[in-house]
Amino acid sequence: MQTVEELRDILAELQSENGKLRLAAEHGKLLLAAIEALLSSDEQAEPFAIVFDALQEAFKFDTAVALIEAGEAVVSIAAQSEAQRHLRLSASGPLKKALKGRVTAISGDSVGIFGGTARSALCLPISLRDKRGALVLLRHGDAAGFSREDVALGRRFAVLANQALVVRLQAEQRLENQRLEERSEQLQRRAFTDELTGLPNRAHLEYIVNEKIKNQGEAKPFALAFFDIDKFKSINDYYGHAMGDRLLIEMSKRAQQALRGHDIVARLSGDEFIIVIHGAGEQKTIEPVLKRVLAAVAQEYQIDGQDFHSSISIGVSIFPHDGQNYEELRRNADRAMYRAKASSTEQYRFFDASMAENLTARMELEKQLRRAVQDRSFITYFQPKIDLNRGCVTGFEALIRWVDASGAIRAPGEFIEAATRLGLLDEITMMLVDDVAAALPRFAELFSPAVDCSINLSASQMISTRFVQELAAKLNEYGISERIILEVVENESFDKELFHQSTAPLLKQNKLRLSIDDFGTGYSNLSKLAVLGVSEIKIDRSFVTGIDKNLRTQKIFSTIENFGRSSMLMMTAEGVETEAELAYLINKTSINVVQGFYFAKPQDINAIEQNAAALNQAAATAKRDYLRLVG
Ligand code: C2E
Ligand code: CA
Ligand code: CA
Repeated sequence: MQTVEELRDILAELQSENGKLRLAAEHGKLLLAAIEALLSSDEQAEPFAIVFDALQEAFKFDTAVALIEAGEAVVSIAAQSEAQRHLRLSASGPLKKALKGRVTAISGDSVGIFGGTARSALCLPISLRDKRGALVLLRHGDAAGFSREDVALGRRFAVLANQALVVRLQAEQRLENQRLEERSEQLQRRAFTDELTGLPNRAHLEYIVNEKIKNQGEAKPFALAFFDIDKFKSINDYYGHAMGDRLLIEMSKRAQQALRGHDIVARLSGDEFIIVIHGAGEQKTIEPVLKRVLAAVAQEYQIDGQDFHSSISIGVSIFPHDGQNYEELRRNADRAMYRAKASSTEQYRFFDASMAENLTARMELEKQLRRAVQDRSFITYFQPKIDLNRGCVTGFEALIRWVDASGAIRAPGEFIEAATRLGLLDEITMMLVDDVAAALPRFAELFSPAVDCSINLSASQMISTRFVQELAAKLNEYGISERIILEVVENESFDKELFHQSTAPLLKQNKLRLSIDDFGTGYSNLSKLAVLGVSEIKIDRSFVTGIDKNLRTQKIFSTIENFGRSSMLMMTAEGVETEAELAYLINKTSINVVQGFYFAKPQDINAIEQNAAALNQAAATAKRDYLRLVG
């Protein structure tokens, strides 16, 4: 590949050679100017417009068209006049020669194929990325045909222009990558910031806390202070939501100002906030901070001409004593806050073990769960994925359920964490795989032979070579690997570097596809996904819920969509619940695949069998063309 510098050298050579060529010196200069213009790579300008303009003087043509091969034919990709804009010609005669790299001049009736009143043509070879094509210059009406000098000049030009185009396209590609990177950062910033207050949001807080624990460990204690506004609901009801919002903004400012520089306040949701107090492992170092915050937020508020007072209650948990990770610390701080609220005298409480009354409940759950794994008391529910372009069920997601001793169906949210802690998750996943293997042939009959099935893996399973090897072996034994998509959520335990080196090649070898679950909530560096071999992203429910009426959701969704499209990823929108959401996705986005309660809740294989006809019908009705016509 030649660089701009090397091309410029060739130009200089051409310049010195000019005398020897039988070209008018003037023409030589014009060509040089054309190629220089191409190389200057002004990102606004359309490359062919530059070429056309620059060649005009040298070749004195009336119109020009750029054609590129498409299967057996050549089609126009840029043209100066309407007559040539939609050409589709067979690659024969002078066009065939151009594809082979030769320059030809023709005149007479055969020029008619290029449309308009063209009477003579000069066909120059070009190549774009891996495609070949021709640049055709046309003279209309009575103008004289192209001369041998023109052909010689064209030959000279074609070589240089092609190299210039390659360089230019590369520069554009780099620019495009850069833009993508910037957009990905923007998206990440937005996903990490609370819109109303500008504070870090829940996802960001969780990330900060878990990173802190990972990097500094138990040697560096810190505290989480969970607070919410007393009787916030009544404030909202009485003064209205706009006022409630103003109060939240004002209060978060005051809390922030009351903190030392490196302490952080984040908004979880509604009127719930958490303060991270660094370097504080004892009550007596934490109390002064709490008192400052309490004093600051207790000052009178003046909002929209109204004066009023407001107060908060705080609950505190301390790492490592009161929890090993963000979730435990948050839960315990929340419990302590609940106690503070219940008390008529205390505005804050520290967590203590007596507040964890359900500790024994947890041990009971663990015992039951161990037994359930021994007894294989799990079933797999399936939720269909609908292809809107084809109007059919294109796949299913397998979702595990636990049938407990009382016969109740328990959702994964209740036990996956415990199963992981107890080292039982791998066995549970393998049971699910057995169910998937049994279901696939039935799905194939009911829906389409190509129906696939998604399986959720935890991040630690996804980066475990041992687990992925066992899983792949089992799927191969069942002969269903090509039907399987593995989903993983990009949380902080999904070590992408490790994945890339250890298990990504295994997935590839075994033809297992990879999907990023809950996309948009994680910490992804978007431009890395291609490197990891990701084939699908599942756009998180939070970017789908209410999309028909929420402008911000629409914007984020469209950013994700553009990213997915430019990275050629399959995209599935999760959590479609209403007709209005579906209509928005159909009419305003290019999303092909959707999943959600609107079509079906997750259900067992027998229920799917019973509902198959209705499902097929619903999918056909949701078909994009059809709904566009009626809607
Ligand atoms: P997920 O992978 O994001 O799965 C989608 C969840 O969203 C399911 O909850 C599904 O019932 C729910 N859902 C689907 N459509 C809608 C909708 O329109 N509206 C609403 N509100 N919810 C919808 P489920 O089955 O309770 O699973 C929860 C999570 O548990 C899953 O989230 C997944 O992360 C995890 N999980 C499920 N099965 C497994 C498994 O076998 N292994 C692992 N590691 N995790 C699993
Ligand atoms: Ca999933
Ligand atoms: Ca999901």
